[in-house]
Amino acid sequence: MRVTAIYPGTFDPMTVGHIDVARRASSMFDDLIVAVAASTNKGPYFSLEERVDMATLILEDLENVTVQSFSGLLMDYARDVPSRVIVRGLRAISDFEYEVQIAGVNRHLAPEVETVFIAAAQEYTFLSSSIVREIARMHGDVSEFVHPVVIDAFARRQQLASNSNNNR
Ligand code: ADP
Repeated sequence: MRVTAIYPGTFDPMTVGHIDVARRASSMFDDLIVAVAASTNKGPYFSLEERVDMATLILEDLENVTVQSFSGLLMDYARDVPSRVIVRGLRAISDFEYEVQIAGVNRHLAPEVETVFIAAAQEYTFLSSSIVREIARMHGDVSEFVHPVVIDAFARRQQLASNSNNNR
């Protein structure tokens, strides 16, 4: 039986930490779906379409990985796929509390779906999308933390913002 796992997240934007988890998960399962959450409640910086397009380009060399978007309950999405494995990355104690809580709720909603945690690589434990956004906002160098596709997207966004400021 082929096992399809889902790696869900907001990926706003995808970082090298996310890429590392996706790469490692793709070697553990037959197929991996990187599922980009609409996460409208988080007010994402990049649109859902941008986040999906970037992740698709970034992960295109991984043959058994596809990128999809979803909204609503992750467990409903998992049943639709269908998939019985959710992959999440764990960076620190702070992630642990939240992730275990979510895994518990998800198990309650869909007992047949298992959540599997992949420990972040040591060098990426400090890395988060929000830190990358913050550095980029201050025009800092994020090239060590994200794929060039993401750097281009930040540059485009900042260009748009400066054009609209100049037109005021
Ligand atoms: P969410 O909004 O669902 O938390 P994120 O895009 O922030 O989505 O993260 C998706 C998953 O990737 C989460 O399980 C998160 O803990 C994990 N993750 C985030 N950054 C890293 C990293 N640097 N290394 C490993 N895992 C990470």
